[in-house]
Amino acid sequence: MTDIEELFDELEYGPALEDASPAYDWLRQHKNVFGHWIAGKWTTPGRDFKSKNPADGSILAELSQGTKDDVDSAICSARLALSSWQSLSGYQRGQYLYAIARQIQKNSRLFAVLETIDNGKPIRETRDIDVPLAARHFYHHAGWAPLVDKELPGSQPVGVVGQIIPWNFPLLMLAWKVAPALAAGNTVVLKPAEYTSLTALLFAELSYQCGLPKGVLNIVTGDGETGRFLVEHRATDKLAFTGSTEVGREIRKATAGSGKALTLELGGKSPFIVFSDADMDSAVEGVVDGIWFNQGEVCCAGSRLLVQESIAEVFESKVKRRMATLRVGSPLDKAIDMGALVDPIQLRRIQRYVEIGKTEGGICWQSEVDLPEEGCFFPPTLFTGVHSSHTLAREEVFGPVLVLMTFRTHEEATLLANNTRYGLAASIWSENINLALDVASRLETGVVWINSTNQFDAASGFGGYRESGFGREGGLEGLWAYRRAKEDLLPDEKSSSRLFEKKQYPKSSKTLDRTRKMYIGGKQVRPDGGYSRSVIGYSGELLGEVGEGNRKDIRNAVEAAKSASRWSKIGAHERAQVLYFLAENLEARSEEFAKCLATSTGISGQQEVQSSVRRLFSYASWCDKFEGIVHQAPAGQIVLALPEPIGVFGIICPEESALLAMVSLLSPAIAMGNTVVLVPSEGCPLAATDFYQVLATSDVPAGVVNIVTGSKSSLAPVLAEHDDVDAIWCAEHVELGQIIEKLSVGNLKQTWITKGSRNWADSNIGEGREFLRRATQVKNLWVPYGE
Ligand code: NDP
Repeated sequence: MTDIEELFDELEYGPALEDASPAYDWLRQHKNVFGHWIAGKWTTPGRDFKSKNPADGSILAELSQGTKDDVDSAICSARLALSSWQSLSGYQRGQYLYAIARQIQKNSRLFAVLETIDNGKPIRETRDIDVPLAARHFYHHAGWAPLVDKELPGSQPVGVVGQIIPWNFPLLMLAWKVAPALAAGNTVVLKPAEYTSLTALLFAELSYQCGLPKGVLNIVTGDGETGRFLVEHRATDKLAFTGSTEVGREIRKATAGSGKALTLELGGKSPFIVFSDADMDSAVEGVVDGIWFNQGEVCCAGSRLLVQESIAEVFESKVKRRMATLRVGSPLDKAIDMGALVDPIQLRRIQRYVEIGKTEGGICWQSEVDLPEEGCFFPPTLFTGVHSSHTLAREEVFGPVLVLMTFRTHEEATLLANNTRYGLAASIWSENINLALDVASRLETGVVWINSTNQFDAASGFGGYRESGFGREGGLEGLWAYRRAKEDLLPDEKSSSRLFEKKQYPKSSKTLDRTRKMYIGGKQVRPDGGYSRSVIGYSGELLGEVGEGNRKDIRNAVEAAKSASRWSKIGAHERAQVLYFLAENLEARSEEFAKCLATSTGISGQQEVQSSVRRLFSYASWCDKFEGIVHQAPAGQIVLALPEPIGVFGIICPEESALLAMVSLLSPAIAMGNTVVLVPSEGCPLAATDFYQVLATSDVPAGVVNIVTGSKSSLAPVLAEHDDVDAIWCAEHVELGQIIEKLSVGNLKQTWITKGSRNWADSNIGEGREFLRRATQVKNLWVPYGE
């Protein structure tokens, strides 16, 4: 008996190594050298850099560094393939995606082993998670291909898409990007990460075996410089990037004003919140998955463990006990929990962070795990005694390092969780569903998992808020990112700005009393600078004066808009009432507004006013009808995709249709719960200044709409640079759009640079879902059910 007890106590795991020979055979078939995959064939290999197995440092293959010419020829090939790919029916495109999904499944072990030796992640994870999920993405999108035209009406494929992916989930990130792009009718040039290109190359070869037409998918290998060539190339229509916030910012800057669509999936510092009523043992397993899955090299890793003070001591000891049982070792061993980090550079980066953590006063705890003698291995690590200001609580380590902090109330938990520049994901553990959902609604993150973590599915969107980027991957939300509204092609060169450039607006020194003021925080206020500008009518007469807004006016307006954030919390029905009231009050003054427009433009304003009333009415109706959806998630989970307001909006109005365009941009933004700082038309600002009274008499809470008149080219950059502005829409000329997108890099604002000269009176173009979609960001909330 004793012997058996002892045996159980000492039970050692034997090695359970996966056979890696199929992957090595495939590499040998290629003589361990690879060119790029362009126009359906390999280019002559360059032997420029090596792909290594991080578990033992051995060289797996030599790869080619993509040059400017390589990127150019890949983009040409994608461009050439575009029209024939788009001329296929959705059903035919779906067949290719379906065949690719089957091909991934048929070769799943080969993919899993190749990924494991190239990246260092455990075979258990590549086999059970990365590869099946990659296949799932192709199946899911094979189904979207025939549906996309009907389900996303009024949209068309974006065109040629450049895609850049990181090294942590090489095949899965490829699937997340390539499957929706092809399903939506685009062609692709993808650059995998320098450390982990091999599964992308295998994928290219196998997709060709499925008959995928040449040029539809092109893979160019290389480092960040190759990525930069792809970003800077003029002939792509969209860039989709997953990687660090730092590089994401560079890409935002490089593409600013180019008219290219852009989605950024960036870093995170995700909170993992454990309340005192949580099922502690499940939560401990959640922690293991949250931070030690994939060696912590996960963008949404739950790297900040926030535990309610009353259970913190017990919980910490449970986590430590569990850490002691984690096994780190050969990634090919089916019984290990953590494999190798991707590269010695990443290992040193993590070691550096741990040293900083200790220097700043954190207490480091590591279990005594046996690490292999060679290779890039690091033990599971827990830090306590960490403050919010510490580097480890703020910076993304991208490794197996967890910080534990405590909170007392759920208010404090929410504040701590949101105390980061990122907003990718969060995990909440509580047996009280009311509490969990309440906290979920307050978290500023794109994904929230309740009593679970790291749940992904092709049918559900994934992506961040704030500096974790914008755009979604997966589900209907992700598909939108690969389509473009027909009306929303490049901003129009002949945009309205030309109109006001020609006009002369003499600075006036007349008494300030006759000047229309600004509208900030629900009050009419004088412009800070005390200057005004004359408003000249159609026939050249002076119609009046408006304030010349400056930097300070914009700052005050943003502050007012930020303090009005309660607007996002009130019910949609209440917001609808306010918009209906606005419509009613505008209608009551329609004669006056029509006259104002007529004196500015020389055209009767009656129709424009009526259209503006209808538009307000229409968005009042939309308030409680632009709904989220419930995704078809894996069994036992409900995934709620909830459109949420983005925050403070900057809106730069076009010149023409001064009233209607202003209303068309303003009303979807406020209907969805955002607050707004708006710069109206320069040529016809009186339509906006007269609108103050409509706002003031329609129960619009102070600060929800703020209007600053003046020069758009001076005021728009201030809005774009302001860190409390979360999104900016500009219906103006290309040059101003360029400036705005460049300056919005600081806090990675969501920007929409669109045509000013659209036909605002046409309700198919001037209003609708496209506006509402852009006025919201989707939070995917995962709620498990069952025992
Ligand atoms: P990087 O941003 O360094 O690299 C990502 C990709 O961009 C790589 O292919 C890289 O090439 C390339 N690249 C680097 N510099 C440039 C440049 N100037 N222009 C264009 N492309 C460039 O990130 P990592 O690969 O280090 O990945 C880790 C980061 O990715 C983490 O911050 C993580 O949070 C984030 N991530 C986010 C995810 C999400 O969905 N939100 C998912 C996975 C990771 P090279 O390989 O040569 O470096």
